[in-house]
Amino acid sequence: VKEQGKNSFQFYDPSMNESVSKKMQIEIGLRKALERNEFKVVYQPQVEVHSGRLIGTEALLRWTNPGCGTVSPAEFIPIAEETGLILPIGEWVLHQACLQNKAWQNAGHPPMRVAVNISSRQFRQSNLVEKVRETLLRTELEPHYLELELTESIIQDSQHAIEKMHQLREMGIHLSIDDFGTGYSSLSYLKTFPINTLKIDQAFTRNIYTDPKDASLVDTIINMAHNLGLKVIAEGVETLEQLEFLQKKECHEAQGYYFSRPVSPEDLEIYLEQQAVE
Ligand code: C2E
Ligand code: CA
Ligand code: CA
Ligand code: CA
Repeated sequence: VKEQGKNSFQFYDPSMNESVSKKMQIEIGLRKALERNEFKVVYQPQVEVHSGRLIGTEALLRWTNPGCGTVSPAEFIPIAEETGLILPIGEWVLHQACLQNKAWQNAGHPPMRVAVNISSRQFRQSNLVEKVRETLLRTELEPHYLELELTESIIQDSQHAIEKMHQLREMGIHLSIDDFGTGYSSLSYLKTFPINTLKIDQAFTRNIYTDPKDASLVDTIINMAHNLGLKVIAEGVETLEQLEFLQKKECHEAQGYYFSRPVSPEDLEIYLEQQAVE
């Protein structure tokens, strides 16, 4: 049955490929995942390049489901976006991340930022600004300890996006552009969008030591950020050579396996304690 009118039925089609049914399985699992407590948030350190000091973390979502096993966010986030499930899930992540960051402060650790990924669908939600404001009030986290990571795709809806970004900035929240340079968008938005930080995508960082073209792209992005008065952070830093390159180019911050993988709140606490001793 091909027609998909209001009263038509859809029958199982055995030719349906594996990826479609896997996708359906993920969608079904995702619908129950929040109430079943199947999500966890892990935190990856963000480090100041010149001092090696921890200045913040990025909150990253993890999902383990009895049927699907551990599913990568690269696989389930797009499905959550498509189905709208990203709205309640994203709200949950934001709340967890703010709560956790405040808990570290309350435990006596030096205050640091937490960066939370906001999908474009979440960003377009009409009450996003209110939700963020509410979350900060409920968790008692000061706004300047929250950073929202946005992708270039939000630029499609420029006028609304700019207005929202201003409202968030007025609250004191930081905004960064994630995966910078991969969105095929014109650079002119950098003039009009009130952002604080560019995050250099790991696809560029990966080859800075082996591919002169990637090296010169990273160099250019860092210089551009400096010239525009923006902060710049490189992600996907895995080796000392990559870090040394970034140091030489005066990239402000870095994040990647070289420092730490994304870890549980308990393990991040160990990182914080080591940092305090150094
Ligand atoms: P992203 O925001 O670009 O996050 C960076 C990804 O790179 C993370 O993958 C992180 O674990 C990984 N990574 C960090 N350092 C290194 C490194 O040195 N080498 C390599 N190879 N990888 C590194 P993860 O956690 O699997 O997340 C994948 C993507 O899923 C994220 O990409 C983000 O787009 C999305 N995502 C994750 N959590 C959330 C969330 O809470 N909300 C939304 N909307 N998206 C999320
Ligand atoms: Ca991110
Ligand atoms: Ca990224
Ligand atoms: Ca990415």
